[in-house]
Amino acid sequence: MTRICMIGTGYVGLVSGACMADFGHQVTCVDILPERIADIENGKMPFYEPGLDLLVAKNMGEGHLHFTTDLKAAMDTSDVVFIAVQTPQSEGSGEADLSYIWEVGKQIGAHLDSYKVIVTKSTVPVGTARKLKKIIAESQPTAVDFDMASNPEFLREGSSIEDFMRPDRVVMGTESERAEKLMRDIYRPLFLLDTPIVHCPRIETAELIKYASNSFLAVKISFINEIATLSDKVGADVSQVAKAMGLDRRIGGKFLHAGLGYGGSCFPKDTHAICHIAQENGETASIVEAAIAVNAGLPGRAIDKARQMLPDFQGKTVALLGLAFKPNTDDIRCAGSRQITQSLLDAGATLRVHDPVAMDGFKKLYPDLTYAKSAYDACEGADLAILITEWNQYRQFDFSHLATIMNAPRFLDCRNVYSQDFVAEFGFEYRSFGRPQLNA
Ligand code: NAD
Repeated sequence: MTRICMIGTGYVGLVSGACMADFGHQVTCVDILPERIADIENGKMPFYEPGLDLLVAKNMGEGHLHFTTDLKAAMDTSDVVFIAVQTPQSEGSGEADLSYIWEVGKQIGAHLDSYKVIVTKSTVPVGTARKLKKIIAESQPTAVDFDMASNPEFLREGSSIEDFMRPDRVVMGTESERAEKLMRDIYRPLFLLDTPIVHCPRIETAELIKYASNSFLAVKISFINEIATLSDKVGADVSQVAKAMGLDRRIGGKFLHAGLGYGGSCFPKDTHAICHIAQENGETASIVEAAIAVNAGLPGRAIDKARQMLPDFQGKTVALLGLAFKPNTDDIRCAGSRQITQSLLDAGATLRVHDPVAMDGFKKLYPDLTYAKSAYDACEGADLAILITEWNQYRQFDFSHLATIMNAPRFLDCRNVYSQDFVAEFGFEYRSFGRPQLNA
């Protein structure tokens, strides 16, 4: 059993903390938001994540998992301190904003009075752990030995518990035997699953692995979207192209789904950050830059496709189905829905929107839209329906019913969920990404 302090109770901190407690460790999670800590203690999770409430309740009940706003108290009872605070994209420059990390570093230094391993779990630019070490050392009232480690997190929102419990690999960068042993102890339950542990004797390697992995996935998504654009032009079907490509084991079928591209809190900021890291080192991450440019153009492509069906949005009603950047999360950070909403509003459309869990967050950005009770309610009287997030419950629409409640049967499928043959049978004009139009 390892005694762990987890700083930050966001998607990564809360899930990692709860999972580590479930491994049998003693975990204290800390946040600066007292209301967040109180809510969690009362069983109210700060975001939607399947299974998290049960996991937290179970481990709190068993006495493995605690919550506090008191960092000193949490550190006093810990041997390993994880930092899982946000590292958002800075306005303008694209680099990661590390202000939350540096602030935590100062606080850790102020409270450090016995040996501990300080681990960056947040996604941080290469070189951060080394700079943080200096900040912590400078903030110590009396010098106490400590080690730094990097343990980037690869969980995905929506399936984060499974991802944490059964990861493809665990990456840890440590530079002392003592730190390595403590880190390996934490992940020992995964050894039974034969989970590969990639131990990096240089922390910079671990830091770069995270950015390289996310950027590669983003590149893969943008690549297939570029092929989708080409498919639209030449009359090919990108779904078949992707399937055939994916069957080649050197390529693999994952992250080859054409549509509205990537969003969320990680790929957009991490791709920008790696470009910035390259620039700072006198290089250009040109492949990643191209992936960013392709992705940025996709909401605009969706609007172009919508215009092919409905040339003038003025006075028309459009139903948006799905607001979250992907299914099974309420995260709307960098979600394609935001750009589409703004473009349609600018063009004079009236919007009726629905999402199973992300409407509360969206209301804060766009309070004046009509927030519907269901996807069908959103489509009531609409001149066009746009499927933005491929929630499971949107995969089984009753199109004969939709045709009766919409003002006109038009359906733009931004996630290529349906087939045109199927939807056209119900009299719908249907468009998707990179798949040939019937009668075209
Ligand atoms: P988040 O914004 O959901 O949560 C961050 C939490 O840290 C908040 O609760 C905030 O109040 C807290 N916090 C900030 N400063 C603090 C302080 N001084 N003391 C205590 N708590 C403090 O962020 P997130 O989505 O969990 O992301 C955290 C990091 O993990 C980021 O670097 C992100 O890139 C990375 N990451 C995120 C995901 C993901 O899917 N969200 C996946 C892998 C890695």
